[in-house]
Amino acid sequence: MGYKKIIIKNGLVFNGENFIRKDIYIADGKISKIENKINLKAHVVYNAKGFIVAPGLIDIHTHIYGISDDCFGTPAPSSFFPFGVTTAVDAGSVKGNKFLLENMKLGAYTFPSVQIKNDCVEFYKIEKMLHTFGDRVVGIKTYIDSSNGDVLSSQPLKKVIAFAGGKGLKVMVHCSNSSIKMEEIIDLLRPGDILTHPYHGGDNNALLNDFSALKKAKEKGVIIDTGMAGHIHTNFEIMKKCISAGLYPNTISSDLTNLSVFQRGGNYGLTLCMGVMRAMGMPETEIFKAVTTNAAAAIGKESNLGYIKIGSRADLAVLDYGFHPFNFNIDPGNKIKGNYSYNCKLTLCDGQIVYKEKNLDHRIKILI
Ligand SMILES: [Zn+2]
Repeated sequence: MGYKKIIIKNGLVFNGENFIRKDIYIADGKISKIENKINLKAHVVYNAKGFIVAPGLIDIHTHIYGISDDCFGTPAPSSFFPFGVTTAVDAGSVKGNKFLLENMKLGAYTFPSVQIKNDCVEFYKIEKMLHTFGDRVVGIKTYIDSSNGDVLSSQPLKKVIAFAGGKGLKVMVHCSNSSIKMEEIIDLLRPGDILTHPYHGGDNNALLNDFSALKKAKEKGVIIDTGMAGHIHTNFEIMKKCISAGLYPNTISSDLTNLSVFQRGGNYGLTLCMGVMRAMGMPETEIFKAVTTNAAAAIGKESNLGYIKIGSRADLAVLDYGFHPFNFNIDPGNKIKGNYSYNCKLTLCDGQIVYKEKNLDHRIKILI
């Protein structure tokens, strides 16, 4: 299928660094012009007046059907495009289905997982998966969770880090209900490794010693990833205290699973997570970096990913923003109310329109 020439007009463009008011011209699947006014011929002209035009959003902690365990995996790309997500990382891959991963329309990467059992960890099961997925692998996911394997000490994590280091891979640590102190985990992780679920409400959470773990992570360059999950792993009170102390996450991710995707009328996804962070007081520029450039850097695979630049692949998310109240209840004692939210109106992946909200026909002109 040939690429169409598309113009996105009048939007507030987040280019990966700042918000600027520009028109964008897309040709051959790439960003071809970014100018104040573009009046060239095109197949499609979209009027984004009143909307933010962002790089395609990047969700570094998801669970994709056919790659993660079946009880968690959500169908891609239909769980991602309606939220503006054009790149997703499966964080907990147990199935080496390379054909599926490579043939998803969205950009897809993986974190094959190793489980710690009785303080022991074995790697033979993931060796094959690492080989099969090749350069689609970002790193190895492991779980320091007393409700998910008997992790008694930091010894198994040391082994995981040494194994990953030997292969040039990152490590993502799930730390909800951690049996060891968050600070101890941060001490072991290397710059560029990722701590997910940092705002959990279980044992050894982020409040210990005046947020010492998260402060150390920031100093060291360990990536703090929300892994919001939508039904577990996030305590809004703890999150609020951390955000008030300026301890923003580097990356905002949904941890979208089969258990959360269809909750709240099917509206749980990355854009809702961004609204939650806004309600927490995280600045808007930081929110957008956390789902674009910071997330691309966390993956560390493609140099232009997460930016709107001349020559970059035309992955774009057009988002309505402003006063749209929402309630987000994990359980009766763990809930948040927001007044400001983001709703995806149009998604482009690799220069093609892959999602368009209904009732927007007055904004689109099909010219040729
Ligand atoms: Zn997860």
